Amino acid sequence: MHELVSALLDPDVTARELAGLSLPRTYRAVTVHREDAGLFVGVPHSERDPRASLYLDEVPVPEPGHAEVLVAVMASSVNHRTVGSALFEPEPTFRFLAEYARRSPAGRRHDLPYHVLGSDLSGVVLRTGPGVSHWRPGDEVVAHCLVVELEAPDGHDDAAPGPAQRIWGHETNFGGLAELALVKAAQLMPKPPHLTWEEAACCGLVNSTAYRQLVSHNGAAMKQGDTVLIWGAAGGLGSFATQYALAGGATPVCVVSSPEKAALCHGMGADLVIDRRAEDYQFWKDPETPDPGEWRRFARHVRDLTGGEDPDIVFEHPGRDTFAASVYAVRRGGTVVTCASTTGPGHLYDNRSLWTGLKRILGTHFASYREAWEANRLVLKGRIHPPLSVTHPLEATAEAVATVRAGRHHGKVGIRCLAPRDGLGVRDPELREDLLPWLTLFRDG
Ligand code: NAP
Repeated sequence: MHELVSALLDPDVTARELAGLSLPRTYRAVTVHREDAGLFVGVPHSERDPRASLYLDEVPVPEPGHAEVLVAVMASSVNHRTVGSALFEPEPTFRFLAEYARRSPAGRRHDLPYHVLGSDLSGVVLRTGPGVSHWRPGDEVVAHCLVVELEAPDGHDDAAPGPAQRIWGHETNFGGLAELALVKAAQLMPKPPHLTWEEAACCGLVNSTAYRQLVSHNGAAMKQGDTVLIWGAAGGLGSFATQYALAGGATPVCVVSSPEKAALCHGMGADLVIDRRAEDYQFWKDPETPDPGEWRRFARHVRDLTGGEDPDIVFEHPGRDTFAASVYAVRRGGTVVTCASTTGPGHLYDNRSLWTGLKRILGTHFASYREAWEANRLVLKGRIHPPLSVTHPLEATAEAVATVRAGRHHGKVGIRCLAPRDGLGVRDPELREDLLPWLTLFRDG
């Protein structure tokens, strides 16, 4: 691996030399083990610790198959998918691997006693399998996480709802929290040249999701002039949603839980920010009883900030804790668009406000290649930026996952895989210089 890293860091090494380099037989990867799948049975959610289930293993290098690409991973990032995989919630991911193996010959290699996790990467193409024509060794890339087979007709209008769609590094093996990763060629996109490896690696999953959820015609189809209420606006998804609202001529109303996060929202350019903790919103009287008085107080607060407007769109993901307030607060005819239920999937809301207000609830899940490409195009143009706050080396991934699980982060948490230090990989220093205030906005310390 040492020889490979030296070659990757040497600007004089050509693509041909890189392609001719012999690969190591094994690589280091963050894994969970099938034999541990029962580790947390009977352990309450709050007591499950990802540091007990995550390993850093030396595993064999997979050969790229048809339409597949082997990538040297310079950096990756931590997503809640990885948290869920590490906690075996809602179930151990080995079932997904077994199902992939049953349904597709390409999936057989994925069904192993270990699962290499991770759904983001930035890196360099090392080897391409048969049928790959667009990417070559030496290409600097980022990856989105939608794996599709596209044999069924359902995926051909919009790939995201295709029946055989899978999330790479969660429902497939050989993920991005590793020194090497195996992806489909149709997951790759050009790495933005003005970004470091670790900045580039933290965009794929959440940026693409936020783009589909808020901007795409498959999502809320935000338009100029819209007011968009964004929960967790200084988190991974929310910080991209805030940027999309601002860049698209909408007005974000950012909800966060601390003055530091409020300052980040102002730093992104948002004027309207609610600190939900300072306002002490309690949408539930007890775990079973919602408090409509608090929905009304919250909606009034939003209206006071906007000068009387209710949000056209509510960007939802906290789920049970906030969903009723979101449905209540959205304007008549408006849309609550949701991609997650972080605080619980059993949503409870007053359906009368939905139907009498002709409101819509819209589900969305990751993005198609086209949507991921559009989201990445905006990063390439320097219009949307990575909210990277901190990085950790690959060896400290379990600790980083525990931080995200506890919600002690803001923006995104990056992982250096083959990149030996922060700050490498920049090919367009001029554009970077122009964007530096933004690129350092979320950085800790
Ligand atoms: P994140 O970086 O942890 O941000 C989530 C934010 O939600 C936090 O910063 C927090 O902000 C806010 N939040 C948490 N609990 C809350 C509560 N009880 N009430 C109000 N706000 C609350 O996570 P993320 O990467 O943005 O992901 C968010 C969720 O979306 C996760 O569940 C993730 O799995 C899911 N997701 C789904 C998809 C998909 O394709 N379906 C893709 C990406 C992410 P404050 O504390 O500052 O308010």
